[in-house]
Amino acid sequence: MLVLEDIHKSYGKENKVHALKGINLKVEKGEIFGVVGFSGAGKSTLIRCVNLLERPTAGKVLINGVDLLSLQPSDLRKQRKKIGMIFQQYNLLHSKTIFRNVAMPLILEGKPKDEIQRKVTQLLSFVGLEDHMDKYPEQLSGGQKQRVGIARALATDPDILLCDEATSALDPNTTEAVLELLRKVRDELGITILMITHEMNVIRDVCDKVAVIERGIIVEQGSVIDVFTEP
Ligand code: ADP
Ligand code: ADP
Repeated sequence: MLVLEDIHKSYGKENKVHALKGINLKVEKGEIFGVVGFSGAGKSTLIRCVNLLERPTAGKVLINGVDLLSLQPSDLRKQRKKIGMIFQQYNLLHSKTIFRNVAMPLILEGKPKDEIQRKVTQLLSFVGLEDHMDKYPEQLSGGQKQRVGIARALATDPDILLCDEATSALDPNTTEAVLELLRKVRDELGITILMITHEMNVIRDVCDKVAVIERGIIVEQGSVIDVFTEP
């Protein structure tokens, strides 16, 4: 459902920093796919190319066969709603309640109030925060904040959820609980998940497939069992 074809990305005045040097990836529908690598390997650049926060220097980003880079702005906006994203630092609005944070994508879409009410209540119950909707982000723990991030990312009914170091700020127990929720997102909603992380144990715990990235190149790719079992 997500295919990256020969993605290159260079930065700098003369494109001297080659962050990605020909990335090929294929993520099947319903998979939890992990990209793992050390700091500076190109993980953030890669995920930013998938949701087009960053425009690749060359290559194709195909979602269900559609090349995102070839779309007109209005079609692109439509396609991007099909991509949800969560972040290491949650990126919540601190002056807004939990309800408002999760409602934000729907408010921006101009959805009617009763629909927003119904959808947000349902999402908060899905992530186990229905009793916290009137609180503000600073009243919640890190794990709870990431649950809010997940609920907000699901508000537009995405086909794919991108996770950018989503558990890296959390302790091991909280990490396990958030990974459990991501499994539930895949199992119950059928949403495909692409995560980048430097945490090998997270990949082992939850991913079906993994790609190892080093200096802008995928050096290994396959099922988690194959990649992490010594020959
Ligand atoms: P990771 O997420 O794996 O830590 P990044 O994608 O952030 O890796 O970085 C890959 C390489 O690209 C690094 O050498 C980094 O310095 C460089 N880089 C990332 N973003 C920029 C940018 N906006 N401008 C210039 N260089 C960048
Ligand atoms: P505004 O006052 O600008 O309309 P609000 O954030 O107060 O914005 O409310 C937006 C909508 O969301 C309203 O329809 C409100 O009923 C609903 N809403 C806000 N907070 C909650 C909540 N904690 N529980 C249920 N519905 C809520």
